[in-house]
Amino acid sequence: RVNYSPRILFSLFISLKEYLKSYYENDLQLSKDLVFLRKYSFLKEEQVLENENIKNKIEPIKQKLEKLLTDQEILEKIKQDPRLSIIEENGNLFLLVSDPRGYIQASGRTSRLYPLGLTKGLSLVLVENHKVFEHLKIKLRLIGYKIDFKKLSEISDLEKIIQKIDEDRKIVKKFMEGEIEEFKDPVKTCLIIVESPTKARTIANFFGKPSRRSYQNYWVYEVSIGNYIVNIIATLGHFVDLVHQEGFYGVKKSGKYFIPVFEPLKICRKCGRHVSISVNKCEVCNSSDFWDKRILIEFLRKLANEVNEVYLATDPDTEGEKIAFDLFIYLYPYNSNIKRIEMHEITREEFLRRFKETRDINYSLVCAQLTRRVSDRWVGFSLSEEIQKYFKNLNLSAGRVQTPVLGWIILNEELRKKEKYYLGRFYYNNNNFIDLNFEEKEIANKIRKNKNNLRLEIKILEKKEENINPPPPFQTSDLLKSAWEVLRLDTNTTMNLAQDLFERGLITYHRTDSYYVSDYGRDLAREFLQKQNKENLLYTRAWGSPGTHECIRPTKPFTVDDIIEQAILNQEQILSRNHLRLYNLILNRFIASQAKPAKTEKALIKIVLRINDEPIIEETREVIYEIKERGFDEFLNIIKPISLEEKIYDITDFKLTRLSKFVPYTSATIVEEMKKKGLGRPSTYSTIIQTLLERKYVILNKGYLIPTKQGKTIYEYLKEKYPDLISENLTKQLEEAMDKIEANELDYQAVLKNLFIRVFGII
Ligand SMILES: [Zn+2]
Repeated sequence: RVNYSPRILFSLFISLKEYLKSYYENDLQLSKDLVFLRKYSFLKEEQVLENENIKNKIEPIKQKLEKLLTDQEILEKIKQDPRLSIIEENGNLFLLVSDPRGYIQASGRTSRLYPLGLTKGLSLVLVENHKVFEHLKIKLRLIGYKIDFKKLSEISDLEKIIQKIDEDRKIVKKFMEGEIEEFKDPVKTCLIIVESPTKARTIANFFGKPSRRSYQNYWVYEVSIGNYIVNIIATLGHFVDLVHQEGFYGVKKSGKYFIPVFEPLKICRKCGRHVSISVNKCEVCNSSDFWDKRILIEFLRKLANEVNEVYLATDPDTEGEKIAFDLFIYLYPYNSNIKRIEMHEITREEFLRRFKETRDINYSLVCAQLTRRVSDRWVGFSLSEEIQKYFKNLNLSAGRVQTPVLGWIILNEELRKKEKYYLGRFYYNNNNFIDLNFEEKEIANKIRKNKNNLRLEIKILEKKEENINPPPPFQTSDLLKSAWEVLRLDTNTTMNLAQDLFERGLITYHRTDSYYVSDYGRDLAREFLQKQNKENLLYTRAWGSPGTHECIRPTKPFTVDDIIEQAILNQEQILSRNHLRLYNLILNRFIASQAKPAKTEKALIKIVLRINDEPIIEETREVIYEIKERGFDEFLNIIKPISLEEKIYDITDFKLTRLSKFVPYTSATIVEEMKKKGLGRPSTYSTIIQTLLERKYVILNKGYLIPTKQGKTIYEYLKEKYPDLISENLTKQLEEAMDKIEANELDYQAVLKNLFIRVFGII
């Protein structure tokens, strides 16, 4: 009997989700119903029946389920499902499902916290129904627990474990009876500092429902993990920056040393401009309403003072290291027990592992970031001041990366006007087509004149079988390119979406230039394919060797559906459609990179376009003729076999387009160019394009970057007056130097000295 209880309906719906899809027009509506049931799951059936409004809403949901339960065909399918168990008793149908939260609570109770520490515990699961056990494993994963269940017979040291449990219990007993006097406080307190509020919330949610308190716009979460009480807070990004007045644009010169001087950030709430601490009225908008990060520092110091240990868990790159360093400087007088945690994915397992594997601040990374900040400031400020004065416009700027990139966009436009060619698209056999390129105008004219007599002759010269391997998983520049090509998302949007996915714990760090897939990542691919019953397609690859970073990949074996279910279970906001589309792109590319090659038949073909019998265009090319055995292409549809036979086709229609050999840059292709030429890094690609757009040096037209008159004027002026400072070479040398500083192979002071001479022209 299906009743009106939202709680029971919810649990049935979430388990039968896959099978209910056919009763809905789209998945979105199903998700909405799930959210609704979840929201009212505190109501009893009687209460629903008393409330006409809610009852009417539940009625159609209930009917869908009733329809499913009388559909013999679907019931038969459900009975075959490896994780769903339906049994019949006295004419009633029962669906057996697991209770993952119940399992977590119950197993947690086998071990207890008492004043001398945590006791050893052992949880045994008696498996009566294997399908329900499989269900439990999947659902545990979904609520954030990766539990490695072992068969009792596989545990070799069972005796020892039981012995330890007995010993611990004896100690607890003695303690309770007052025989042990010595008392040490087993619970430590700590403070974990991250940059973003989402990241703080994600970490806090790993350990049950956190409590929250706030201090002037800053939220602190408090959770308990084993013998730690953990406070988690976000800095909301950088909280200090170079001063404006001191020395050379914020860098003091003292003897042979350069000393960058930093102060807490003060940001105008109205216009977003960064101002100096001493400023009380914004010079741009006259507002006196400021966001003063000194309040954050004061609060952090208070918190640091209260706890035993401080953990700095900012992002794993030079920028994150610099923020960690700043925190260290400000908090050390209040708590000397400060450690750095480097998390490459925001998952429970990674957190628990890194919590034990702390390290010190890496000063090489900090120095690399200092060099980046100072060189941006020196080159940027000196050039910007110059053009602001010359063009009498305070909204202009220039920079060591943005200006050379602007130069490429301008050059590209000039080239585009010059070299052109024809793209001919010729249709045969209904909607099949083939593209042929040529340059001569006479050919175009001939084709147009003889449109009814066009024929396509195909000769197959050679056939061979060939395995095609998948492309590697994503790193930043590939992700940006693909997100544009497949989803039409620009770089800025893509980076913001990816940041959210990272902070929600769904993907690894998205600012990376590595393709490497760790052991954990390869296991994840196996787990995913097993879940999809496609383990036969597994073909793991590491795509390189371990370094600081990994490729961009999912952190859990979740489909988009799983992510929605997880959000509903945790009563979190469901991510936007674009978040989910981007996640899916990352997932498929990653799984493809861990799947078998596709077996194909390639053919070398000769293509002749004829007018009657006269050949007009001749070309030989290699094409994929047929996919013999599918592999990674099940996840990544990039192999497109061409359907051609050895014969002469009539051309039914054609289209000629005159194109430039140079395509205007999109934000994705300019990033590709930056990567190729060594300008910018994964952390800065998107910001550079954003600045060019904000300054109106380029505009976006249908996704293409087009230089403006203002952009061209500024660039010409700078190229004429400061060819050295805006050269690709300077920036490339600097970026290479920063890589060396990161690796502790170069002294950052020496790099600053060289740059100082180039910028200020004095020693
Ligand atoms: Zn302002």
